[in-house]
Amino acid sequence: MTSDSETEGWRSWHDASEPIRLGVSSCLLGELVRFDGGHQRDRFVTDVLGPWVEWVPVCPEVEVGMPTPRPTIHIEEDERGEQLVAPSTGENFTEAMTAYSKRRVGELEAEGLDGYVLKKNSPSCGLSRISVYKNGKRAHRGGVGLFAASLIANSPLLPIEEEGRLNDPGLRESFIEQILCRNRWRLAVKRGLTRKRLLDFHTAHKLILFSHNESASRRLGRLLGEMSKTPDEALFARYELDFHMCLRSKMTRKRHTNVLQHAMGHLKQFLDSKAKQEILTTIEDFRQGLLPLIVPLTLLKFNMNQYSVDYLRGQLYFDPHPKELMLRNHC
Ligand code: SF4
Repeated sequence: MTSDSETEGWRSWHDASEPIRLGVSSCLLGELVRFDGGHQRDRFVTDVLGPWVEWVPVCPEVEVGMPTPRPTIHIEEDERGEQLVAPSTGENFTEAMTAYSKRRVGELEAEGLDGYVLKKNSPSCGLSRISVYKNGKRAHRGGVGLFAASLIANSPLLPIEEEGRLNDPGLRESFIEQILCRNRWRLAVKRGLTRKRLLDFHTAHKLILFSHNESASRRLGRLLGEMSKTPDEALFARYELDFHMCLRSKMTRKRHTNVLQHAMGHLKQFLDSKAKQEILTTIEDFRQGLLPLIVPLTLLKFNMNQYSVDYLRGQLYFDPHPKELMLRNHC
């Protein structure tokens, strides 16, 4: 069967000197920073993802100077807009948190992050669906934590997720794929981009991009096809933006099926009708939800290595992230 050494997987694009660096709400790592003096350790974050990444823990409430334990705070809407307040004491942290967040997200940007995992339901860290109060009563759940809002505004291309959403296998795979892609992009920039290197980068990511958004992926292809019209700096900036945006589109069973069929097109000249039928049946079973993605992928990988199909062997799609994370066993 296929081994990692036979394909140009994620490891061949990874450099230990540029680890996958993720910002994280400190309480998710088990740090005792919550308002009640406790933590919210998340086992996926610490035990599964932890061994593969370097964490940059941040607790905005502690870093802004709040004690632990502390009175609970929430977002209150009044004539000034959204305010971060402690209802039991009347303290207002809006100004301090806004100034702190602006400074801190700038520092984090300079550290070079590949993504961020935020704690859900927090008026500071929560990414969405945060309770907003009016006159002491909950008015709606459409708020965003103050620190999270600053992070999104300052780093619009940064992959950001809440720990709760990472329980969904599809969102989990999508997030991890995005952070690895971003890490490779950062590494490519650090090593110095040239047009040739950009083309190599794009070629290796073609099927990954295709699995997220076929039309956005074709737009990227066209951008590179007409690259002589664009000055270097503008080309690299445009590619970076479109690359990250394409990866934001959700991978679906249908999109994966299209990629698998596309890969099959590069293999069929080497296969007899029985082998072809076996792969096509497996792809169809995957399309119908009868098999996980790992099954047709393994079959395709075996054959592309067997027949040395270099275009497919160079595609990160077949080994985009550590297999130990078992992301493709569930979708
Ligand atoms: S949710 Fe954010 S602010 Fe609250 S304890 Fe965790 S890291 Fe600190």
